[in-house]
Amino acid sequence: MKTSVIREIGKEMNIEEREIPHAGIGEVVIEQKFTGICYRDILTRDGFFPRLTLPIVPGHEVSGIISEVGEGVEYFRKGDRVSSLIYVPCGHCENCISGRENLCQYKKTLGENIDGAYSRYVKINQRSLVKVPAGVPEELSTIAACVTGMVIHALDTAGGISEGRRVLITGAGGGVGSHAIQIARAYGAEVMAVTSSPWKKESLYDLGADHVIDAGEGFSKKVKEIWPEGAHISLENTGDATFSDSFRALSFGGRMVVVGNLKPAAPQLPIGILILKGNSIFGSISSTRYDLERALNMSMKGKIRAVVSKEVPIEEVNHAFEEIKERKNLGRVFIKF
Ligand SMILES: [Zn+2]
Ligand SMILES: [Zn+2]
Repeated sequence: MKTSVIREIGKEMNIEEREIPHAGIGEVVIEQKFTGICYRDILTRDGFFPRLTLPIVPGHEVSGIISEVGEGVEYFRKGDRVSSLIYVPCGHCENCISGRENLCQYKKTLGENIDGAYSRYVKINQRSLVKVPAGVPEELSTIAACVTGMVIHALDTAGGISEGRRVLITGAGGGVGSHAIQIARAYGAEVMAVTSSPWKKESLYDLGADHVIDAGEGFSKKVKEIWPEGAHISLENTGDATFSDSFRALSFGGRMVVVGNLKPAAPQLPIGILILKGNSIFGSISSTRYDLERALNMSMKGKIRAVVSKEVPIEEVNHAFEEIKERKNLGRVFIKF
């Protein structure tokens, strides 16, 4: 099978021919139709993750049909449809046993510490898997861990959304943002989408955004014109470029949850505002199996649709990386096997 491999940081990935893997103890092999290209994969190739083990097969958005079951696997059967977390949790530490396996410090992340999703067949430990209910489109089961489940986790981290809460979403035209708009709306929130790509505006309204504004410097003033009391939650999805404004856009007591960091940097934090307005800032990483299950249920009920800008064969993955860096796509780009 054709497999994409990172052999050198910052260089184009190789396309190599590899054998279909076999399931070891506690593992299954999954046959995928698609995998998502995530910005994290680009950051991985460019060397922003220090724990990287080279060479490595990148990618971590895995779903499909189980084609082989290893020894010691009882709950999953050949032919089951499953989605995977983006990592394999240890299953034993205090965070794992309390259902917060996304915070497992012993976890192995696909595409970084163990071979990932950029091949048709992927071998994965059963501890990472959730069964997919009938009726979930394949594109949505593929992004249930890293996109939709991750957004659900982040919104929970910021205290959850109830009807009528005002939610600001930066990077709204990207793979995460375009789905976050739909999820926040499904929870009954009023959504303001922030984008640096004006051509995406109409589509963001179509996805359910109540307001769409430009991401230029000082956009928090625009937020306050529309919402004089500010946002209850800022879902910060790009990092340094928008951090300061999405923080300043918060209401008194408003909460910011940071999930993305496209150009790793250290933004300025106005500490006076943090204290006087009683704001909170949270980091949120990935998703748990419970988040994954909730994302799949939401997908099954038709509350989210997959925003897919294109599907590319594995041979074109290097080119797709460049296009994503230049923000030429609305939503997710998929590799199709
Ligand atoms: Zn991802
Ligand atoms: Zn653990």
